[in-house]
Amino acid sequence: ATDLVIAGAGHAGSELALAARQAGWSGPIVLLGDEADLPYQRPPLSKAYLCGKADLEALALRQASAYEAARITWRPGTRLQAIDRERRTAHLYGGEALPYAKLALCTGGRARPWACEGLDPQHPPANLFALRTRADADALRAALRPGSRLAVVGGGYVGLEVAASARDLGAEVCLLEVQPRLLARVAGEAMSDFIAGVHRAAGVDIRTGAAVQRVVVSGGRIERLELADGSALTVDLVVAGVGMLPNTEAALAAGLANEHGVVVDECSVTADPDIVAAGDCTVQHSALYDRAVRLESVPNALEQARAAAAWVCGQRKPNHAVPWFWSDQHGLKLQQAGLSQGHDRCVLRGDPGQRQFCVFYLKADRLIAADTVNRPADFMLVRRALGAGALPRVDPVALADERIPLKAT
Ligand code: FAD
Repeated sequence: ATDLVIAGAGHAGSELALAARQAGWSGPIVLLGDEADLPYQRPPLSKAYLCGKADLEALALRQASAYEAARITWRPGTRLQAIDRERRTAHLYGGEALPYAKLALCTGGRARPWACEGLDPQHPPANLFALRTRADADALRAALRPGSRLAVVGGGYVGLEVAASARDLGAEVCLLEVQPRLLARVAGEAMSDFIAGVHRAAGVDIRTGAAVQRVVVSGGRIERLELADGSALTVDLVVAGVGMLPNTEAALAAGLANEHGVVVDECSVTADPDIVAAGDCTVQHSALYDRAVRLESVPNALEQARAAAAWVCGQRKPNHAVPWFWSDQHGLKLQQAGLSQGHDRCVLRGDPGQRQFCVFYLKADRLIAADTVNRPADFMLVRRALGAGALPRVDPVALADERIPLKAT
């Protein structure tokens, strides 16, 4: 076979297909997607698309003609089931077998199901939503009305963005976070407090340390959430934003994944040199942080896809990109460079009251990450500094001092 078979037509799969053609792949390229839509952007699903400010056409990553011009066969509604590494064959649900020269796994993830007393996974209530796909966003959008009482379970980025968009649409929004503060695992206290303040000012009822103990379902719909502190919340609809699970079933069975994801190196190659992987489904060792990380971000999906495309075309283009991420909430531009987990110190630069500031995360006096709010230039500086190869040593006092240019710290 001379085919490049790509399983998963999201950010990573779409990029990989086009980049491989550009890098010189001459055989057929087959892009298998189990969704019905042309590969589309996921970030707007909780932002502009949910608010009705972007339509389906605006979501498409590229027009159909771009795939045709690159002789990429996009096959919607097809799903990889199993990999026969010995015969280099991809088996699809429905029985079809596709021989490949190279196989790419770009299967992303799915919303983690919310488990709670009162919920039967076999019979999910009609007014319980998750948000991963365009279909999820359409269902949620159709159910949201001005005045709807919405509970968002989980104060991660997706939950916070849904809360902001739903407020925009006039819903009454209560966000329940079990941790004592928002984004507790990833952000410093100044950032958590700021985000909570912005949401509260926009009318979102933010409740931290709020554990849902039981869901009361009646007539196939969630009627009420009962919290551990004895309080209860009457709801019209619930969005569970409790994280994602990587789609790794085929890779696991083929011995290419662990419980965190499909294991790849800096060229996006798995343990099998004929199989690459990219995007949310992967785990990769980060040289910068000296640990394995699974990143859920568009920039990572694109970088890994480009490295994978180079590899299948016989080139080595290792990806050492600094992890970064953005989020839009209530008109704020939030950007994050690096990974802040494990920091031992936070340094604030600027004034959250002015809605323009940075939080720097340090570990043993080295900068490991930063959160920036409406400060794109500082964000770029940090990204560049972290991309120089090693974690930069910084002076925390100078970092906090706005009179000293960031460059000089
Ligand atoms: P996906 O985009 O998930 O694509 C994988 C595709 O593969 C899916 O279509 C899936 O159905 C399909 N698939 C799965 N299994 C199979 C199979 N066996 N065979 C065939 N196809 C299969 N990131 C940011 O950087 N910034 C943001 O602001 C941001 N906002 C987000 C908001 C929301 C609501 C969500 C859900 C995510 C957001 N993300 C954001 C994360 C970002 O969307 C992901 O990191 C990105 O989509 C990853 O791309 P991917 O190609 O790896 O996976």
